[in-house]
Amino acid sequence: MHALGRVVETIILSVLWLGLPLSPIVVSLLAGDLASLRNYRQTMRQAALQLQAMARAEVIARRFYNEKRAAEQSVSWKIEGECSHCGECCLFQTCVFLDHDAEGRSQCRIYGNWFFRRLTCAEYPMTKDDIELYACPSFRAEPVQQVAQVRLGRHVIPVVVRNAVPDRTVEGGASTRS
Ligand code: SF4
Ligand code: SF4
Repeated sequence: MHALGRVVETIILSVLWLGLPLSPIVVSLLAGDLASLRNYRQTMRQAALQLQAMARAEVIARRFYNEKRAAEQSVSWKIEGECSHCGECCLFQTCVFLDHDAEGRSQCRIYGNWFFRRLTCAEYPMTKDDIELYACPSFRAEPVQQVAQVRLGRHVIPVVVRNAVPDRTVEGGASTRS
């Protein structure tokens, strides 16, 4: 599945590189303003940086496995935090739709529109890996503490199992952390 994602990503990124001269038009249409078209060269340079960042972050390939990975990780990790608008998860601050408010907080020029809702960034962060990918300073993955009960004679004792980190020394990775 991952290999298929890589192939699809390579094809789509190649097409986007070929269409780079059209990027200011497309960005203006999607953002609903002419600013990107007016700054044609700057938008094109920004789009080129974004395409490089998309390849680095494997944005398209991740769509093929991220949901499954999120479901798997949700057993051991829960994601907590609140966005502080640093802009890093916007493709390392290269996204052509990234803007900033007067206080320097990142904001998205297409937030909530039909195109935005189809992007992976709309659901960021889904996984622990997502947080690590952009070194998000505000969200964190906390180990899920699973409470089991052990029967000892007539008594039932609650036991906290911390199984967040798989032990790679064990074949199959099925282990727990004490
Ligand atoms: S990296 Fe984290 S804090 Fe920064 S904009 Fe993204 S979600 Fe918000
Ligand atoms: S949230 Fe907006 S600015 Fe950030 S990566 Fe997504 S589309 Fe780009």
